[in-house]
Amino acid sequence: MKWEGLPQIRSTVPLCYSLSMPARILDGLKIRDEIFGELKTEIGKLSAQGIRPGLAAVLVGENPASQLYVKSKIAACEELGMASWLHAPAAAVSTEYMLQLIRDLNEDANVDGILVQLPLPTQIGSKRVLEAVDPAKDVDGFHPLNLGRLVSNRLGLVACTPAGCMEMLRRYQIAIEGANAVVLGRSDIVGKPMALLLMHANATVTICHSKTRELAEVVRRADIVVAAMGKAGYVQADWIRPGAAVIDVGTNRVTDASEAEKLLKNFPQRLEKFRAKGNVLIGDVHPDAVFTAGALSPVPGGVGPMTITMLMSNTVKAAKLRRGKSSVVAGH
Ligand code: NAP
Repeated sequence: MKWEGLPQIRSTVPLCYSLSMPARILDGLKIRDEIFGELKTEIGKLSAQGIRPGLAAVLVGENPASQLYVKSKIAACEELGMASWLHAPAAAVSTEYMLQLIRDLNEDANVDGILVQLPLPTQIGSKRVLEAVDPAKDVDGFHPLNLGRLVSNRLGLVACTPAGCMEMLRRYQIAIEGANAVVLGRSDIVGKPMALLLMHANATVTICHSKTRELAEVVRRADIVVAAMGKAGYVQADWIRPGAAVIDVGTNRVTDASEAEKLLKNFPQRLEKFRAKGNVLIGDVHPDAVFTAGALSPVPGGVGPMTITMLMSNTVKAAKLRRGKSSVVAGH
């Protein structure tokens, strides 16, 4: 992949950074292609046994961002030769309607994975709906039973984004055992499962949140930093220990020109694109961290593609686990 995140005009790079080599880029698109290749083989083997893994996506209402996400998930199923179904009830549906839909999908033997695209409209009890999903088909890994399995390090379905971050670390052979890992953020879908996965892989894990004191100092001790805060460019380049691996989960759309100019001052090509488009996607880590980190997942093109990839991997895993076939391709 040609990554446009590296500065085009070295003379604009601050002297304190310019002596160091830019970080190795952890390319999510490249790993996606690798895993898709492996999944195609798995799916071929399953289909020889008369099994076609299938994902049912539930998209309520007409949120354009959600429509786009679901479209790319269905496209990924098609690319891999998996079955997929789209259920798109109107925005005004009730919790009861959603619970019945989930019950129907739970009972449908052709469906291996159920994906409820979030956020749901406010009149729907999201927790009740997510907890109604059969844990064996919970390919998002949000069900409390799957979270419990993760806590006790048992085989189960793990949330796609943290599972994708682990896959990225493993495939780029970043040493996890014994490493000091710092996870920024403690959400149920990213921060907490991420910290558990790192701990099970024998890292020493520190979890940070909005009340953490001396965040910069904590981050400076890390060999591995995973940033999942939802704050554009918050983690400064000089917080990163030289050589550390940085996984940037954040996806923040920046539209303010002065903020974009500040964040991208060493990236003239990206700045040009911002000026033309009026927005740019920025991670939680300042783009300048590419001069201090040893390895870095870019935004876009890092964790984003891994999340969809792990959804596909979880659907194949669910298809196998439901039929008592325990070997899995990628993931926990
Ligand atoms: P979230 O539920 O809003 O959680 C954010 C976490 O960050 C909270 O635990 C919060 O602490 C912590 N935090 C906020 N400000 C902080 C600060 N100044 N210092 C330290 N910690 C701070 O977000 P999320 O769902 O986990 O998502 C996080 C980011 O990842 C977002 O940008 C989201 O868009 C992105 N994301 C990307 C993907 C992908 O596929 N690439 C998938 C999922 C999420 P408290 O708990 O104290 O409030």
